[in-house]
Amino acid sequence: MNNPVRVRYAPSPTGYPHVGNIRTALFNWLFARHCGGSFILRIEDTDVTRKVEGAVAAILDSLRWLGLDWDEGPQVEGKYGPYFQSQRLELYREAAERLISQGNAYYCYCSPQRLEEMRAEQVRHKQPPGYDRHCRNLSREEQSQKEAEGITPVVRFKTPLAGQIKFNDLIRGEVVFENNTIDDFVLLKSDGYPTYHLASVVDDHLMEITHVLRAEEWLSSTPRHLLLYHAFGFEPPQFAHLPMLLGTDRAKLSKRHGAVSITEYCEQGYLPQAMVNFLALLGWSLDDRTEILSRQELIKNFSLERVSRTAAIFNRDKLDWMNGVYIRSLTADEFFE
Ligand code: GLU
Ligand code: ZN
Repeated sequence: MNNPVRVRYAPSPTGYPHVGNIRTALFNWLFARHCGGSFILRIEDTDVTRKVEGAVAAILDSLRWLGLDWDEGPQVEGKYGPYFQSQRLELYREAAERLISQGNAYYCYCSPQRLEEMRAEQVRHKQPPGYDRHCRNLSREEQSQKEAEGITPVVRFKTPLAGQIKFNDLIRGEVVFENNTIDDFVLLKSDGYPTYHLASVVDDHLMEITHVLRAEEWLSSTPRHLLLYHAFGFEPPQFAHLPMLLGTDRAKLSKRHGAVSITEYCEQGYLPQAMVNFLALLGWSLDDRTEILSRQELIKNFSLERVSRTAAIFNRDKLDWMNGVYIRSLTADEFFE
């Protein structure tokens, strides 16, 4: 495992970049710069219904504002491109077809109405939610009949019915999931777009990503990803799930806590170096005491070993204090600018 480190920040352009997303970008960037590796930017724009106009530009601008330069990605390009998932649809289709021919995936013809009734039924019987595998064993004749009816199927993964998925998260240690708690999730939607699960596994493999550093909310997706890696016969990357961000009231960070989009901080005149310093300490610390760290000091000292498992608190007062420290350290010329 002496491959050069390759990490990615993989935002979905479904809105303006949230401070939590940018914290993820920063940790990936610091890890890459610390290890002398590559930081890749990949735009996960496969959810056509949630796409927001201007979101990609806001993501690129925010990264630039903070000085988080990417080695490969939009505008920079690189040999693993394109870096927009919407330009890689053929790769996902091929991958899904390969899983079907190997017997690891199948076509599902269920209508939205049927799935809705199924869900209602599950709620009524207090059963766990999830697809009931109705199409998992359709015969060829049944499939042809559905095709003849003009139904465009989705492709679902044939999740093993028993067994476990175990992995060593670089922050949380051993994590175990029972396969029987995972349903036959969708890989390819009927519009031909992949789901997040399929696209991220295919791309992390093709882009030779070595470490996936992402927010804790994705932890429950990781067993699905590992099942896919196994089915494809790809070697999985290492995973590290970053602690959640909470407001000072310990509730999940949201609009109620003030500005959550990074662009607002830029517009309000916060200094990028203060923002970088502040974000770096949301879940990472040098020694539990040092608060002011330059970009170079952060790069030099960043390590996953010192990322905490417990949630980080986003404290606006601390940000204001830190911004003040940085502003006072500016020369008159810098301040004027
Ligand atoms: N597109 C996902 C997001 O918006 C990426 C999650 C991941 O890093 O795998 O956060
Ligand atoms: Zn079905």
